[in-house]
Amino acid sequence: MEHTDVIIIGAGPAGLFAGFYVGMRGLTFRFIDPLPEPGGQLSALYPEKYIYDVAGFPQVYAKDLVKGLVDQVAPFNPIYNLGERAETLEKEGEHFKVTTSLGHTFTAKAVIIAAGVGAFEPRRLGAPGEREFEGKGVYYAVKAKAEFQGKRVLIVGGGDSAVDWALNLLGTAQEITLIHRRPQFRAHEASVKELMEAHNAGRLRVLTPYEVRRIEGDGEVRKAVIFHNQTQEETTLGVDAVLILAGYLTKLGPLAGWGLELEKNKIKVDTTMATSIPGVYACGDIVTYPGKLPLIVLGFGEAAIAANHAAAYANPALKVNPGHSSEKSEEKAPA
Ligand SMILES: Cc1cc2nc3c(=O)[nH]c(=O)nc-3n(C[C@H](O)[C@H](O)[C@H](O)COP(=O)(O)OP(=O)(O)OC[C@H]3O[C@@H](n4cnc5c(N)ncnc54)[C@H](O)[C@@H]3O)c2cc1C
Repeated sequence: MEHTDVIIIGAGPAGLFAGFYVGMRGLTFRFIDPLPEPGGQLSALYPEKYIYDVAGFPQVYAKDLVKGLVDQVAPFNPIYNLGERAETLEKEGEHFKVTTSLGHTFTAKAVIIAAGVGAFEPRRLGAPGEREFEGKGVYYAVKAKAEFQGKRVLIVGGGDSAVDWALNLLGTAQEITLIHRRPQFRAHEASVKELMEAHNAGRLRVLTPYEVRRIEGDGEVRKAVIFHNQTQEETTLGVDAVLILAGYLTKLGPLAGWGLELEKNKIKVDTTMATSIPGVYACGDIVTYPGKLPLIVLGFGEAAIAANHAAAYANPALKVNPGHSSEKSEEKAPA
């Protein structure tokens, strides 16, 4: 059994920033996350998208924001238990005990849950060939634009992701076709206007109301058969990549059975980010309280509150108020 002062469940932006503050308070901590790398949704879903609403950054790539968070917490020697999911949370005497999907048992004096939207997986279309060609030309996110360099890409979806990527891949992909099952898009008006201008200028093609009938290939994607969902008329497109951006399915996962007070699959917290279990705090997309918004900047603020309260719980000799980081002595300040 391995012990730290605090366990942080989830290494997305909220969890990483909570780690920074726990480290600033001189406590030891570990992150547990089933993803292979830290960063949560930013690393898994949109590493190469710009974020425009992080205070102090007019625009920042999601992956660069994650790098900054990882660098910021690094001086405090975090332990990363990546590739494993927290399965159970129990109180044993003075300590919390967390077991993971890899069979590890970790203990801590306090716990911070920053599990975002829980486990997330892409919403699949259910079209023949889709599963078969996953990883061989069927994508559910753009991890790196370079993957689409010189390719004929079919994008499926009608929200911001689909519209933004159709525009973002101009100049990278050889040919872009965007299909959506409805005539109207659910994306920002300005982006839809830009999309239709690109369509009218012949820089990409927009087809509605179209859906995917099947995906075909020979080890790799070669063709997609699409159909007009009112006339049923089929069209075969020669494509090298099918980028399906139809949203995500989220599931709370094991957290649901930990005895926490929940509301609509979110953890209820008070103004100190305390959950209904004393010593267990939460922050980020996983929490709910009146006025909550699922935004990164709010997650940062909540992380600061959760971490400082968790620190004072784990070590009652500590005050909750951390003071100003700019006034820390050199030994305590990050390198
Ligand atoms: C395409 C897209 C664009 C976005 N753009 C913006 C934007 O411009 N501005 C903005 O503010 N927000 C944006 N968001 C929302 C933003 O990404 C989230 O608000 C943010 O990621 C929440 O951070 P988090 O740390 O709370 O959760 P997450 O980023 O979801 O991270 C939670 C982590 O917890 C892990 N986890 C889940 N269950 C367990 C478990 N049982 N054990 C261990 N770990 C677990 C997950 O694997 C994940 O890594 C966007 C989201 C998407 C999908």
